[in-house]
Amino acid sequence: MKYHSTRGNAPVLTFEQAMLTGLARDGGLYLPETIPTFSKADIAAMAGLSYEEIAFRVMRPFTGDTFTDEKFADLIAKAYAGFGHAARAPLVQVAPNHFLLELFHGPTLAFKDFAMQLIGQMFEFALKRNGERVTIVGATSGDTGSAAMEAFRGLEAVDLFILYPHGRVSDVQRRQMTTPSEANVHALAVDGDFDTCQAAVKDMFNDFDFRDDVRLAGVNSINWARVLAQVVYYFSSAVSLGAPHREVSFTVPTGNFGDIFAGYIAKQMGLTIDKLAIATNQNDILHRTLETGVYSTEGVKPSISPSMDIQVSSNFERALYYAYGSDGAAIAQQMDELKQSGAFTVSQGAISALRDTFASGRASEGETAAAITRYHADHGELLCPHSAVGVHVAEGHLGATPMITLATAHPAKFPNAVEAASGVFPALPARMADLFERDERITRVTGGVSDIKTIIKDRI
Ligand SMILES: *Cc1c(COP(=O)(O)O)cnc(C)c1O
Repeated sequence: MKYHSTRGNAPVLTFEQAMLTGLARDGGLYLPETIPTFSKADIAAMAGLSYEEIAFRVMRPFTGDTFTDEKFADLIAKAYAGFGHAARAPLVQVAPNHFLLELFHGPTLAFKDFAMQLIGQMFEFALKRNGERVTIVGATSGDTGSAAMEAFRGLEAVDLFILYPHGRVSDVQRRQMTTPSEANVHALAVDGDFDTCQAAVKDMFNDFDFRDDVRLAGVNSINWARVLAQVVYYFSSAVSLGAPHREVSFTVPTGNFGDIFAGYIAKQMGLTIDKLAIATNQNDILHRTLETGVYSTEGVKPSISPSMDIQVSSNFERALYYAYGSDGAAIAQQMDELKQSGAFTVSQGAISALRDTFASGRASEGETAAAITRYHADHGELLCPHSAVGVHVAEGHLGATPMITLATAHPAKFPNAVEAASGVFPALPARMADLFERDERITRVTGGVSDIKTIIKDRI
């Protein structure tokens, strides 16, 4: 299986190379040259299998000869062994035709663990085999950083540096990043906001001397391997509700479009999905794009669902690529226009292709809080604010087809918003109840990107 860029102007890579590279050199995102498909019988045969077995079947056609079957099964087993639920991604019914897919039983209590735990294993294996060592640098608004720390701590072939905005992540998120004691992971608290952190990371990738010197690699959500790992729970949940004999729909709390794009891939692979509903908070650029056909950025408005506070939704480029009939030149042109003017108009053909697959909706701050209140009172479910955005939007799309809303984080990760709306302070699961007693290790960075580069060179 070969991978090419959405902008059509970067080297064609293997799965292993695409995973270790992240962003393509033409600024595009890697996609498989063809999407493998399953027959109805293949999908029916997944009924009753464990999460790990379904993961193997769904991902194996994409990984080429990077791993033997035995090795790949072993990496998958290790990736999910630390999850706090035997089903890994259990379904909970909340209404006759509405289900929650709980994706928060991993070590850092958000769905990011599903991909990050697996790519930690895959990176370590591939790098050791090649006798290589890399430095991973990532920016985070909270959940990606904690998931990466947990996935890469103690690995031998990787040094990990996470840049987060000082004072702007929740206490639980910060402690998950600052309490791992392994010497190969480093939490850097940067003065500024998430955009400052992201700009510093981009600067490092564009400084080719530094990039080659420290062997920089990236694990943000544009990494194809992360998208691939997320395709699995669309299959496991749909099959447990009767796919391929029954269609299902999904509603996905969306920021960078990685999670919902994994659903799109599942559908292209033959999974019987009717609609994929994009749920946004008040940062509703994707909802507006689907309604108007114009992708137009505005300033980010901080919300109680901060992991979805995003303006430039990177993985949307992948969906656009397919909507434009795999025309890399057209995508490159649209992305140039976005860079120049902060907006572009999606072509008639492309917008109708997107509307065939995707529905959308938004939740205001008030509607998000009301959904938390209501689900606690009516169903005894404590939702995190991101999942609350999801159920609010899902309720606008309920019908004869079973709806699965992705519950993307555990309520204890965002306790203040949850308590304000429900009156209940959500407790951390027992396995991490001592999080607030562990010692923190933080490197404060008050200078610019050159200070960060010096710290990285000193530490590796
Ligand atoms: C990252 C995240 C999202 C958004 O996912 P995308 O793949 O960026 O669309 C939603 N909810 C939570 C809790 C997250 O951590």
